[in-house]
Amino acid sequence: MIADHAVAPIVLDACNPGPMTGAGNNTYLFASNGTAVLVDAGVGHADHLAALERALSDNHASLEAVLVTHGHSDHVSGVPALANAYPEAVFAKFLLPDDDRRHHIRWRPLVDGQEIRAGDALLKVVHTPGHSPDHVAFWHDASRGLYTGDLVIADGSVVIEASRGGNLTEYLASLQRILELEPRQLFPAHGPRVDNPPALVRAYLEHRRRRERQVVAAIEAGHLTVEAIAESIYHGLEPRLMPAARENVRAHLAKLAADGLAADRDGWRML
Ligand SMILES: [Zn+2]
Repeated sequence: MIADHAVAPIVLDACNPGPMTGAGNNTYLFASNGTAVLVDAGVGHADHLAALERALSDNHASLEAVLVTHGHSDHVSGVPALANAYPEAVFAKFLLPDDDRRHHIRWRPLVDGQEIRAGDALLKVVHTPGHSPDHVAFWHDASRGLYTGDLVIADGSVVIEASRGGNLTEYLASLQRILELEPRQLFPAHGPRVDNPPALVRAYLEHRRRRERQVVAAIEAGHLTVEAIAESIYHGLEPRLMPAARENVRAHLAKLAADGLAADRDGWRML
């Protein structure tokens, strides 16, 4: 029997490169002892499905479950194709009933602290809302590895879409929570593995604190709207990235409002 700490999931590229997904999503396949569990579903690209089929066959494993980190389309839209190819597989996520209906699948619920056997590996569900309310990460204690979905990206920052359920206060608490797990490595859904998690997560927290100071300064300088505040902070940003930048500004404004520091009274003001 292979020891649990020796687990190394197979990275399967979801083959969906784009402006918001970078090189495309990483999905992670844990396969051993005849069974396999896939973390994140990708988008149903034929090459992803073919690579999955090959990996299962190479490892003489059948796909038992697909666990998704959250309901954003680059993580779940491959579910129907996977359900079609693997009718015996279970599909699981942290439930968000209004949102989950559109995936046309009967989800098995994931809850915080739940343990899931993935071949030889044992994965623990860590509810990490903020990027989305239903976001979870998967903790593999034996290797101190965390499969982080969209919590972090090694070479960029994560969009908190306030108008689609993103919540910066929750996101910062989730970052703090993963820091406290003392992970050795992070495995994001986009980009390379992170080998120095504390440095990256602390840099993220500092980045958000700096951004909040910029938003406060923009309001104090008389910028009243999301658009004006975003333009003053992200001046010169590629136009196609501007909507995401505005979402980040909205997330900061919602946090400042929740903290009782700012309010929208015919335009944003500090209190
Ligand atoms: Zn996402």
